[in-house]
Amino acid sequence: MPRARPLEHVHVGPLPPERFRSVVDDDRWRLLDAANHRARSIFGARVVWNVNSTATGGGVAEMLHSLTAYARGAGVDARWGVMEADEEFFTLTKRLHHLLHGSAGDGAGLSLADHALYERVTRENAQRLAAELSPGDVVVLHDPQTAGMAPALADCGVALLWRSHIGVDEPNDAVRTGWDFLTPFLDDVDAFIFTRRAYVPPQLEGRDVSIICPSIDVFSEKNHPMTGGQIASVLVTAQVLHGEVTVAPTYVTRSGGLEHLTCRAQMDEDAPAGLNDRLVLQVGRWDPLKDPIGVIEGFAEHVAAYVPDAHLMLAGPAPEDVDDDPEALSVLHRARAVRAALPADVRARVHLACVPICDRGENAAVINALQRHATVVVQKSLAEGFGLTVTEAMWKSRPVVASAVGGICDQIVSGVHGLLLDDPTDLPAFGAAITALLTDARRSATLGRAAHDRVGAEFLGSRHLIQLLGLFGRLIDEHERAASAV
Ligand code: UDP
Repeated sequence: MPRARPLEHVHVGPLPPERFRSVVDDDRWRLLDAANHRARSIFGARVVWNVNSTATGGGVAEMLHSLTAYARGAGVDARWGVMEADEEFFTLTKRLHHLLHGSAGDGAGLSLADHALYERVTRENAQRLAAELSPGDVVVLHDPQTAGMAPALADCGVALLWRSHIGVDEPNDAVRTGWDFLTPFLDDVDAFIFTRRAYVPPQLEGRDVSIICPSIDVFSEKNHPMTGGQIASVLVTAQVLHGEVTVAPTYVTRSGGLEHLTCRAQMDEDAPAGLNDRLVLQVGRWDPLKDPIGVIEGFAEHVAAYVPDAHLMLAGPAPEDVDDDPEALSVLHRARAVRAALPADVRARVHLACVPICDRGENAAVINALQRHATVVVQKSLAEGFGLTVTEAMWKSRPVVASAVGGICDQIVSGVHGLLLDDPTDLPAFGAAITALLTDARRSATLGRAAHDRVGAEFLGSRHLIQLLGLFGRLIDEHERAASAV
């Protein structure tokens, strides 16, 4: 029989975990160092496989780039595979994603044909992965797109994990429909990782579940410090803002090199905002659950008149660059239509930025510069698994206004590290919170400082690596003991 074509690999070079020494205290560094040493002896020739549905766009891809690199730097043979599927499959899995967030999505429900499509595509991808596996490897499948791969991997002799980056605290019928579809595929999974305890569905009660929060990589293009000159130059070069710049548009890469930015954002605007204009920013995929329309309406109705020099920018990936999100273009079209219908004076202060993602480093540098430049960062999501955009803005000491949903509540104590909106659909409250921060620089600075410290204490890659290596090590031990007992 011909050997199955392997999954597409994302090639990630190793990065030294020693870097974390400069951002964590001695105790944490010792824990990470010990975890790395233990990993080297336990993992040996085993491979740790991560499988998800896209190499670019969204929080999971963002994290896998870093975690894979640092695990490799620690001597673990960590690899990253991306499943292959067509638009029909990703339309279905986007619907599943919405259902698990409590929303009906495109409303098409889940049919027997959907089940057959999901089962077939995930099985084919699993067979491609299985051809590369060796007994004793660790396989982590990420999110609903890959869950269906589990049954076909059950007999490969690997430790099999499924990690869900999404969920809601209070499940409704949509959520239950989503889990009813998905959980039968998860019977053979050895262990699960969820972001919050409340996200774990009742079907997985009694199973091996760990709660592990995401993290950011403070050394990546997305989060590396930038000078004021670099920020201005990157934003002007990318044609996101207008102004005079005096330095080259350089940014530091994840591996520590210096690159020149060349990419251009595609802007939907009357005229660019200037470098000196105050900017309210939301970064995110073009997704109804990030509520871009609500952000535009909230700004137009409840901020624009009170802070006449403030501009709003929504920045997201160019839709054609994100394979697993076929809905993005229609959401962007809706946002463009809502913007176009605004009164001219307000419309002139609302900007939509599509940042190409084909060069991941350049995209990240533009987002980094935007987050550092913004006066206020918002994340008005209707649901949010965790919300790395919030973490990123907090690390950059920005004052954040965000919805009190999902993992955002684990990041921000309202009034301490930012401001939370109890009701994400409450546009007057959204506008009032933004206006309060735009007009109170001292409070904004205090919130920003506390936000930075919170991320430093809780949401860095070092903590995440310690947890993951510990969990994988335990599973390998259990696996070996079970194998030797047979
Ligand atoms: N992001 C990006 N480029 C963009 C828009 C978003 O790199 O044009 C990144 C963003 O900085 C963050 C991730 O995508 O790191 C989004 O993660 P989050 O957890 O906020 O949301 P998700 O997309 O996973 O729902």
